[in-house]
Amino acid sequence: MRNSHRSWSFFQLESFLMYKAQAIQSAVVKVSPAFTSQRCPKCGLVEKTNRHHDTHKYWCKQCQYRCNDDRLGAM
Ligand SMILES: [Zn+2]
Repeated sequence: MRNSHRSWSFFQLESFLMYKAQAIQSAVVKVSPAFTSQRCPKCGLVEKTNRHHDTHKYWCKQCQYRCNDDRLGAM
């Protein structure tokens, strides 16, 4: 039940995005969520321990890139 509610929210969000995008002649591009919170956007390193859940920070050990972990997932 819990998962179906979460899935419905994402389905609804996607529907809204598609509708709004069409209204301004834009496209919605779907991206696989796999490793989005672990992959560094600067150097491409995928490392689970770069993300610190308790402090909501992402810190790449390879290139020292830092940002909020939720922001990283969205990027
Ligand atoms: Zn990096």
